[in-house]
Amino acid sequence: MLEKKDDMNGGRARRIRERHRRRTMWERYALVTVVGVLAVAAVILALKLVTSGNSEGKKNDNSQLLTSVENTGAVETEASGNGNVSDDQGTGTVISSSEPQTDSAVASAIEEAKRLAASYDYDEAVSRLESIRSKDESGEVEKLLAEIADVKKTLVDADITAIPHIFFHSLIVDTSLAFHNDKARGEDYNRVMTTVDEFNKMMQQMYDKDYVLVSLHQMAQYTETADGTGKMTAGKISLPPGKKPFVLSLDDMSYYAYMMPDGFATKLIIDSDGRLTNEMEKNDGTKVYGSYDVVPLLDDFVELHPDFSYRGAKGAIALTGYDGVFGYRTDQDYYLKEHLLSNQQEWLDKHPDFDYEKDIAEAKKVASALREDGWELATHSWGHRDMKENSMEKFIIDMEKWIDRVETIIGETDIVIYPFGTDVGSVSKYTMDNEKYAWLHKHGFHYFCNVDSNQPWVQLGDNYLRQGRIDADGYMMYYHPGKLSQFFDVSYVFDDSRPLPVPEY
Ligand SMILES: [Zn+2]
Repeated sequence: MLEKKDDMNGGRARRIRERHRRRTMWERYALVTVVGVLAVAAVILALKLVTSGNSEGKKNDNSQLLTSVENTGAVETEASGNGNVSDDQGTGTVISSSEPQTDSAVASAIEEAKRLAASYDYDEAVSRLESIRSKDESGEVEKLLAEIADVKKTLVDADITAIPHIFFHSLIVDTSLAFHNDKARGEDYNRVMTTVDEFNKMMQQMYDKDYVLVSLHQMAQYTETADGTGKMTAGKISLPPGKKPFVLSLDDMSYYAYMMPDGFATKLIIDSDGRLTNEMEKNDGTKVYGSYDVVPLLDDFVELHPDFSYRGAKGAIALTGYDGVFGYRTDQDYYLKEHLLSNQQEWLDKHPDFDYEKDIAEAKKVASALREDGWELATHSWGHRDMKENSMEKFIIDMEKWIDRVETIIGETDIVIYPFGTDVGSVSKYTMDNEKYAWLHKHGFHYFCNVDSNQPWVQLGDNYLRQGRIDADGYMMYYHPGKLSQFFDVSYVFDDSRPLPVPEY
């Protein structure tokens, strides 16, 4: 085969050489003419580019040209062995280094302003545009300012008592493991969890229906008063007509040890680009990384659709403490090896390289990254205790543990997301006669979320905000699809890998 191929190639080369020899004089003459014409055209083109430097129509071409001149200069410098690019390398470099910088500063300010305006932060967008107004020659800044002024005239202030709230637990990544690995746990996940596929469809449909994420702190703001009772004031959320604000929250984003074998993400981490993402440790010990749970999935979605979030709002994350936070085993029980549940001991056995201090340091970083990214953090009690049923004494012991062992890691919060959704009060307004409310108020908690399937349910008290939440989970979708239909079409999002019927409580 090889010989034959060489023969064929040799034959082809010979034919080409013969054809070349047969080239007539007039062909050579034509070639010289074409080359000459091309050279003249190139000179004319180059002259045109130089003379049209300041004309608006050629601006982009010109800046590209200047950028490539600068790049060539840098390459030449490297090739000649001189590592330092100095300013006195010739006028070409000096010109090219100033123009594109102005252009790119204007372009990046415009991009930023567009993104701010898309997330309804019009005033910030305007101030960004005004800072570069005099430098922009394209007219785009003026055009955007006019557009923003028009949109601002149409804005409608949201009625904060009409804002719904939906919540999720950790999302199921591997449905076959979650639903079939263990019978009792599988039934529980089928009731209270949502799959990745369902979540993605829900967010897309909510976006299509003009829903916009807002935060609890955007809904209302708490201010201290001299007598210590404090005051809660309704927030101003201004949206274009037709846009519908909603709040989202996540319960128990702890990646509990008991869930390890069941096909969920196992940790929230910060990747090498500084972005929040998930680690998923599989049952064979291998680890994969990516968007496997609500935080990175929603981050990805908002990145793609900035108009899904009001000024960067994401959701509130409810955290217990007994098993650590975000998948880090930060509770002292892990360090002291005290009071460990069997699944926690198994987790320790599986992770002989566990470093308590390192987990605490990582969890702190993740908490700040979450806040930076628009997420709010909330207490969910230390031991996932029913705050209504618990005695006052046990309620205090549990909450003091949370403040001592969790708040020290995740930072201060003023949000309570009730475990089991059970509120310390009735539907009537909280008063200081309610000793659990009084205790929570005294310890800096002013935002309270229970579970209520009547959406919306919002109570603006004198010194607190209370909101009911609806669970977008298997139980609710299967038994009460109508209660979710304002948000999405349950028959479309429902994951057909769920064993049916979804078990009742
Ligand atoms: Zn919970």
